[in-house]
Amino acid sequence: MPSLPSSETTASLSLPYPWHQELWDSFNQNIEQGRMAHALMLTGPQGIGKERLALALAQRLLCTAEMSKYACGSCKSCQLLLAGNHPDLSILEPEEEGKRILIDPVRKLCMLLSKTAQQGGWKLAVIMPAESMNISASNALLKSLEEPQGKALLILVSHRPGMVSATIRSRCQKYNLPLPDREIATQWLAEITGNRQESEATLDLATGRPLLALEYLQSDSLETRRQFEAIVDKLRLGELSALDAAQQCQKQNSDLMLGWFMDYLHRLATGELQNKPNARLFEFSDKLRSARGWVLSGSNPNPQLLWEELFMDWLQVFRRRA
Ligand SMILES: [Zn+2]
Repeated sequence: MPSLPSSETTASLSLPYPWHQELWDSFNQNIEQGRMAHALMLTGPQGIGKERLALALAQRLLCTAEMSKYACGSCKSCQLLLAGNHPDLSILEPEEEGKRILIDPVRKLCMLLSKTAQQGGWKLAVIMPAESMNISASNALLKSLEEPQGKALLILVSHRPGMVSATIRSRCQKYNLPLPDREIATQWLAEITGNRQESEATLDLATGRPLLALEYLQSDSLETRRQFEAIVDKLRLGELSALDAAQQCQKQNSDLMLGWFMDYLHRLATGELQNKPNARLFEFSDKLRSARGWVLSGSNPNPQLLWEELFMDWLQVFRRRA
């Protein structure tokens, strides 16, 4: 087990989460053997720490300390990272959640990758999530991927790789990160919350995604989610109309709620309805997926209408056939 850098010196440097240790070790092996690809793509469910893994790797490569398995936190390069202005690192994220990444920042990022590193080492670029790039931004990035430059690494993080251009995907070395080991994730959560039982239950509710579970535990989003699921339950039992339900949901974040709805369906299909297969449930799940794609594409549908339509369809799932 490698020793971790002390926390005082790494105030804002990233360390991978414990469930990514094995992958981290293999990254280190690749670095030591000079077998690092020019472009990596980290995919997997949202809420498992792919972003942190990407940042930790970028920092590890920029760190100039020898024999270090993590960014050391004290070399000149790490000092620049800590100050947030390392000239050889470019991190692209949407300005706001749900917004697109446009062509200009991607062009700047490609320029950084093609120039000589100012600190003489690696040049690093991170885009997260990659599916946020619009078409022209993707095309600009593709050009840069066609001409890999020396010690340059592009790291793409994606929660929905199917929404990233297939050509870009084909140019990257892919790592599909699974849901973390349940025991490791529970232990990690319990260390933060001091309550193992609650941690375990919340991890289940977050379908095994520890960062989402932590968010639930540390905010009121767990309560909001419970309220949303209560609405969906009431609809199913005929205690609420689609119109009223839509009214209650229209002010919330649609993407978030669609995700909750999908988790809810998954639990229903693998639990309560496991022995009562319902084809309409799967059709409905497809509808949720396309609604989510629609919301994420930035088409900005009217939330009241979106939820009304979805809830009407939801009612149909449980209606007896005539
Ligand atoms: Zn360092």
